[in-house]
Amino acid sequence: MTTSKFTTANGRIIYRFPVRAFPELIANIHLIRDGERTFLVDCGSGLPDSNQQLLDGFQAVRDAYGEDIRLETLDAILLTHGHIDHFGGLPFVRQFSQAPVGIHQLDVRVVSNYEERRVVAARRLEIYLEQAGLGSAARENMMAIYLFAKGLYRSQEVQFFLKEGEPFHDIHFFHVPGHCPGQMCLLVDDVMLTADHILGRITPHQAPESITLNMGLGHYLDSLDKIGRVPNIRLGLGGHEEPVEDVYGRIEEIKVSHNKRLERVLEICSTPKTIAQVSKELFGERHTYHVLLALEEAGAHVEYLYERGELIAANGEEIERTTHPVIQYERG
Ligand SMILES: [Zn+2]
Ligand SMILES: [Zn+2]
Repeated sequence: MTTSKFTTANGRIIYRFPVRAFPELIANIHLIRDGERTFLVDCGSGLPDSNQQLLDGFQAVRDAYGEDIRLETLDAILLTHGHIDHFGGLPFVRQFSQAPVGIHQLDVRVVSNYEERRVVAARRLEIYLEQAGLGSAARENMMAIYLFAKGLYRSQEVQFFLKEGEPFHDIHFFHVPGHCPGQMCLLVDDVMLTADHILGRITPHQAPESITLNMGLGHYLDSLDKIGRVPNIRLGLGGHEEPVEDVYGRIEEIKVSHNKRLERVLEICSTPKTIAQVSKELFGERHTYHVLLALEEAGAHVEYLYERGELIAANGEEIERTTHPVIQYERG
């Protein structure tokens, strides 16, 4: 188990270790050590491997740094956002810790009313996939993939909200909607825990706001600028992948990659295209969960351009007379 230790400008310690959240996805767990207090940031997915590696990670931190940090003596559990690879391990953590749990209010219901949210989110996604031009067999397949692993989590109570402008033990929160409605970055002195907002290598996943409010590329790009305006960030620690040495440079790279993708979508839509067709042209043939990710990513870009009048719906008549229309987008 690889653990890392970072020291902030004011001498606070951040420990970090990875867990295998899903077979193909590693997520980072962080521990903020502030004097005698310890705050856990994110919990992994709750799948057996992830839970075991969470325990192993605590043990590895104790072994490597001689600090008696335990799940049983946590002072708070901070959730960066309402995605299952970050909060799914909460029921497991709860077996050891009664520490208060905090998350941004826009993501609280996913954690505390999961069963209800799951049903509503699944229905919205289904409608989205239909309008995107996916046939019924492909849609059914997508929904099965989407719901896999989402049945394991059980709702947990949340004790407090993370709020921008209201620091918690001198941890400063920045609300950065886009990748997730309640996405938060946590500033500990000069180190920013960037969660899934800014990652070292991949461009964080985008989904359209038409599926979930406060997601979408427009919010996301504004939120990148928000972090870009925070002065003196020396290091970024993301929810996945390696540390980000140059947060400001990385923000610019991510913006460039979205702008290129937007240009590409406009090119693709020189003749009318469904979101499914745009997705295929952008990302080629994908499989299993990656098909869904590609459809959401493509849709987020189409939506951004449509909202701004750069794309128009090309098949208005069909949309008007059909109950469940597939929308064709064309450069306006
Ligand atoms: Zn996420
Ligand atoms: Zn994630």
